[in-house]
Amino acid sequence: MAEKQGLVDSAKSIIRELNRRGFSAYMVGGYVRDRLLGRAVKDIDIATSATPDQVVALFPHTAATGVKHGTVTVIMDGQGFEVTTFRSEAGYSDLRRPDQVRFITDLTEDLSRRDFTINAMAMDADEALYDPFHGMEDLRTATLRCVGDPKRRFSEDALRMLRCVRFAAEYKLEIEKTTWHALVHNRHKLAHIAMERVQMELARIVAGSDPARGAKLLAASGLLAHTKTALPVLFHPNVVAEADSLLSLIPLFHESAHKWAFMLIALRIDANDGGKLLKSLKFAKHMQHRTLALVRLHEWMANELSRLSARSDDFPSSLQNIWRAGCVRFSPASMSVWLDLMNLAAHASGKLPGELSAEIFAALYGQAFVLRKRMPVAAPADLSVNGSDLLRITARSPGPWLGKLLDKLYEEVIYERVPNDRERLCQRALELIRDGADT
Ligand code: ATP
Ligand code: MG
Repeated sequence: MAEKQGLVDSAKSIIRELNRRGFSAYMVGGYVRDRLLGRAVKDIDIATSATPDQVVALFPHTAATGVKHGTVTVIMDGQGFEVTTFRSEAGYSDLRRPDQVRFITDLTEDLSRRDFTINAMAMDADEALYDPFHGMEDLRTATLRCVGDPKRRFSEDALRMLRCVRFAAEYKLEIEKTTWHALVHNRHKLAHIAMERVQMELARIVAGSDPARGAKLLAASGLLAHTKTALPVLFHPNVVAEADSLLSLIPLFHESAHKWAFMLIALRIDANDGGKLLKSLKFAKHMQHRTLALVRLHEWMANELSRLSARSDDFPSSLQNIWRAGCVRFSPASMSVWLDLMNLAAHASGKLPGELSAEIFAALYGQAFVLRKRMPVAAPADLSVNGSDLLRITARSPGPWLGKLLDKLYEEVIYERVPNDRERLCQRALELIRDGADT
């Protein structure tokens, strides 16, 4: 908290310095909104009547971050603050960016170009609130409303429609009626927005405090059917309604790949469609891989487990075998991640995604609980022998046999037929070669 207070103090000293030179300056946007809601402060944006040149001239440490749009970063007490000149915007022929940005000196006009009333408030260095569009009242009644005519605002910049869903979900706001109607009316304009930007907003909805609500709003609006690159259906109203209790668990997971994998599984999107979706949204490759690996693992496990009967005599050993086979196929580490995600889902909502039976999963969890504790490796790299060891002891030249032999040894360790010990593994390797297991 002390550090955050430091942040506010530094912002105020920038504002006071600007005021001393005859400029007006305010804390604006997200900071004011979050402050009024008692939320944690992330950063503080400042708006001022001073031009970028004047801001640069006033402060010893600045960086010209976005001068064309009027933004200069001022470094104060070791922290960066974006100081942006009041501006008005016009043009929006690409439905994304204004053709013209004009620097102005009037705060209210600057606030009027902002998207929602709750984002269009300003605070001066004495913490007096400037709220010409009644954002405070909308916060009090939990209402999300465009500044000005919603149809025009969404037409100017189609990304605002996704921001609308994000803010409504994140801050538990009801979207005001004309704002909502304008969003639905303009949804086809989302086609003008680059997929990277769509991805960023979606990622923030999924990473946010209430992705289940975000999913419901996206389903109800039909917004995502209108992206520039067509996406496999992500949020179908019926499926979202059915998956609601599972989707509400997403905030319990920490990693975004886990959140996305769980969401895809809950929405019954298979690895094939999931792959197309993540690719079209231009997610980073590693994020695509990590997410899809988990979806595939889930599909494989759900399929294997669906063939078991809890009544059969060999049920416990079948569970163990499936667990070990999964470890060989996907790695013990990935299996553990999956097990924990599903266990959390089972405990938190009493429900499991996909075709997974709660009874069979509970039994698997019991068996795997013991097995995974004593699992000697988490991934192939943990094996105590490597390729050069095998080349040395066999005096053979490298070839496809080498990889096969390493795979086989990995499997032997996972099935606990051999300990993860270098000597023993080398010995086992020679036996396997003798028995022809490397061919
Ligand atoms: P957060 O950082 O938590 O997303 P924020 O309100 O700070 O919330 P930013 O994207 O950082 O959001 O934008 C800062 C401010 O700039 C917003 O509060 C809003 O006033 C304005 N703004 C941002 N994007 C738009 C937009 N697309 N159209 C109109 N105004 C916008
Ligand atoms: Mg911000």
